[in-house]
Amino acid sequence: MAEVFDARLLLEAPERFAGMSPPAILGVFGSPVGHSLSPQFQNAALDAAGVNGQYVRLEATEEIFLPAVRALGRAGFRGANVTIPFKVAAMEAVDEVDEEARQAGGVNTVVVQGDRLLGFSTDGMGFSRAIREEFLLDLKDLRVMILGAGGGAGRAAAVRCAAEGCERLVLVNRTVEKVRGLARALAPKFHSERLAGPADRLVAIGMDEGLMAEQLEKIDLVVNATSLGMRLGDRLPLPTRLITANLLVFDMVYTGRKTRLVLAAESAGARAADGLSMLLHQGALSFELWFEGPAPIDAMRRALRQAAGR
Ligand code: NDP
Repeated sequence: MAEVFDARLLLEAPERFAGMSPPAILGVFGSPVGHSLSPQFQNAALDAAGVNGQYVRLEATEEIFLPAVRALGRAGFRGANVTIPFKVAAMEAVDEVDEEARQAGGVNTVVVQGDRLLGFSTDGMGFSRAIREEFLLDLKDLRVMILGAGGGAGRAAAVRCAAEGCERLVLVNRTVEKVRGLARALAPKFHSERLAGPADRLVAIGMDEGLMAEQLEKIDLVVNATSLGMRLGDRLPLPTRLITANLLVFDMVYTGRKTRLVLAAESAGARAADGLSMLLHQGALSFELWFEGPAPIDAMRRALRQAAGR
């Protein structure tokens, strides 16, 4: 596993990063950050693109995160990714927040531009590209249910579904108030000339089996954006009896092996995929923002599969 650096070093010894061979120019902030697969595939991308630089892990605390992000430019960094639990705090750390990141309520990509910091969210677009890659379908042609739409990743996916004009969007969350607020914010995107009224095209419900069963009759794609499935012994986010062969199931969770939800969906005859492709595409989009050009996606995919043991 690659070395983890204390993000405090960005403030106290920034020359350490420039003095590395090759110099550290990108990184991921998180806590804990040791398990992140991003260094493996971002370093493969830097190699493939012939960039003299490396991508490192940056372990931060709540107190150090903001000043450490502000110090990126002085330490010679081109940008960084931000993961759990700092995506919301990152909105305060940057000078400008892109519109999609503002709507999603979090920043996962920071770009150093001169003495300014720009914040973006690539989770939603990464999700959209993953759906196209896994199922050969566009969000605009799908009726989508997002479980955990009140969390960071679920919200980013919901904002993207709305931006791409998906046919129906059902927002499901354990804490239902979170998705009621989100539905109010997204409602203007669902007023259209289509036959169904806005209330029918955009729905917010709690994680109630009866309510979910009723909605699933008019759904093509079910997305797990809850953290259920990350830990061994977690229950499924959706009871097995609700999974039918006509559904597409996308689990944002990724582990070394097939997730329990993917296995349950496949045994019900449904097509299913886990979150590895989303991880790849959100990372490729970050690379495109840092280097203002296409990312070497094949090299990234190979490195990620190897890192994930696939
Ligand atoms: P958040 O902490 O922001 O959100 C967690 C979500 O899970 C909330 O909706 C929360 O509901 C729900 N939840 C947590 N525990 C339970 C439970 N016991 N029962 C029902 N719902 C529960 O996390 P993120 O949005 O950042 O991440 C969510 C998942 O998405 C993680 O598994 C993460 O690994 C994955 N992810 C994958 C990415 C990829 O590239 N593949 C990118 C980003 C995330 P409530 O609001 O009620 O607390």
